[in-house]
Amino acid sequence: MAKIGREKGKKLDRKSYRLTLFPIMADKSEKNEFNVPGKYYVDSQCIGCALCSSTAEGLFDMSDTGMAYVKKQPTNDAENALCKEALESCPVQAIGDDGE
Ligand code: SF4
Repeated sequence: MAKIGREKGKKLDRKSYRLTLFPIMADKSEKNEFNVPGKYYVDSQCIGCALCSSTAEGLFDMSDTGMAYVKKQPTNDAENALCKEALESCPVQAIGDDGE
């Protein structure tokens, strides 16, 4: 089992800090119904803060229910980088990148 916590003297980067505080990952079995098929998805943990849709405009969007979804899967490196940034910035780890 992975040790959770900060190693003494080791400075954490932003992602590691967030994963230390919020180690729960997105769950592809909990994908919401609005996602287009593919690698990236938003699961049911989404709190509708809209950070992903502003970070990766055109790739993530907000549904009428207030939950975000993947509107378009990335098709190039620039779009993939935006999706990755959205994933790493999501405050509740509702974005996954192991979808189908
Ligand atoms: S950043 Fe996360 S919590 Fe916020 S809308 Fe997107 S998926 Fe939902």
